[in-house]
Amino acid sequence: MRLSRYFLPVLKETPSEAQIVSHRLMLRAGMIRQEAAGIYAWLPLGLRVLKRIEQIVREEMTRAGAIELLMPTLQLADLWRESGRYEDYGQEMLRILDRHEREMLYGPTNEEMITEIFRAYVRSYKSLPLNLFHIQWKFRDEQRPRFGVMRGREFLMKDAYSFDLDEASARKAYNRMFVAYLNTFARMGLKAVPMRADTGPIGGDLSHEFIILADTGESQVFCDAALVDMGAPGPDLDWDDLQGLVDQRTSLYAATEEMHDQARFEAEVTEGARLSARGIEVGHIFYFGEKYSKPMKAVVAGPDGVERPVHMGSYGVGVSRLMGGIIEASHDDAGIIWPDSVAPFDVGLINLRQGDAACEAACEAAYNALQARGREVLYDDSDERPGGKFARMDLIGVPWQLIIGPKGLAEGVVEIKRRATGERQTLSLEAALNRLAA
Ligand code: ATP
Ligand code: MG
Repeated sequence: MRLSRYFLPVLKETPSEAQIVSHRLMLRAGMIRQEAAGIYAWLPLGLRVLKRIEQIVREEMTRAGAIELLMPTLQLADLWRESGRYEDYGQEMLRILDRHEREMLYGPTNEEMITEIFRAYVRSYKSLPLNLFHIQWKFRDEQRPRFGVMRGREFLMKDAYSFDLDEASARKAYNRMFVAYLNTFARMGLKAVPMRADTGPIGGDLSHEFIILADTGESQVFCDAALVDMGAPGPDLDWDDLQGLVDQRTSLYAATEEMHDQARFEAEVTEGARLSARGIEVGHIFYFGEKYSKPMKAVVAGPDGVERPVHMGSYGVGVSRLMGGIIEASHDDAGIIWPDSVAPFDVGLINLRQGDAACEAACEAAYNALQARGREVLYDDSDERPGGKFARMDLIGVPWQLIIGPKGLAEGVVEIKRRATGERQTLSLEAALNRLAA
């Protein structure tokens, strides 16, 4: 992408409405634009990152055995009357009438609809276990939308739903999602800690929230500090037997405020390891058994031929919220520092003297060579002064910069800079390209 032809509306001023750093940086870097309270347009740079986050979530869901489909954003109110949640959900639900005065709603979540789909097709235990997910926009009319995409009203969520014949098998489905979440967040460079959580309006008995620690987080959390640096288990696992791994992660104390028990915390965690901090909820998993399948009559015949309500769980990831969370975890005074895995571009190519024939030729060659070798390149071919180019590339957080100027070229060298560390290296163009190639 050539910057001169791109749409990157970077702001010089710090927007006064933004209270936290991720919101400020997303506005300044031209990633999002607020269209109404808690409702954002995704500008090209923001959309690139959103798609990459989404793709990691998709890959890890698939690895854990879940299958992607896509449900609509609009749902019939009658479906929610079947579960009893239409009245319960309250003002967070955006209710809509169509031209025939049919009551509809913009989905805040999809338990009812997936249960309806399941019961339409699945009759036998032989089709189980089954886990279906989608990545779709949700709407919740939050009382206080704030912090940019962290607490939006319209937001992108991955929600998966598992179906099993009995509790033991449902527990395995839960464990697969638990571990998939550890891997998902680790791939984005995040340290997410699973914590015992309240089940809220989704209901049920077994639930964990995945929390990344950040001073700007909206949740108060308590945990054993050892959990923060445990890292991810990695992809090569026995996906049918994860209980040991889950036990290891859940045996140490970790709870959100709603579930916190100070006496237990003090009894179980030595004083030096007691961590009480703010956190951002990036994922939430629930096992809720027959809560929806029973009222909605989603039943399957077991091996004995007897029909019983299917056991379900649901598993959410805040895809758009993650973008804010990643920035909260990874930035400096100059701007965003994207982890390689979610960066909008791999390399920012900076021409220090636009209009100089040698610089332009070298930049064009580098631009083409890197793209041919699988890299996404943002080529700053603008007329701006070097200082402005450096500042903008730092602000938008591209992981590598390739800097080409007349002085270096005369000596046969260019410079590469790693955004995260600021480390610079001078080397030949060919060596630089080899270094930066995929
Ligand atoms: P919160 O407690 O933050 O309001 P929640 O518990 O209501 O979230 P869930 O129903 O568990 O949310 O939704 C699954 C995930 O969707 C959450 O873990 C979070 O990452 C994300 N999410 C929920 N509400 C919002 C929102 N208003 N804006 C952005 N992401 C959200
Ligand atoms: Mg939640």
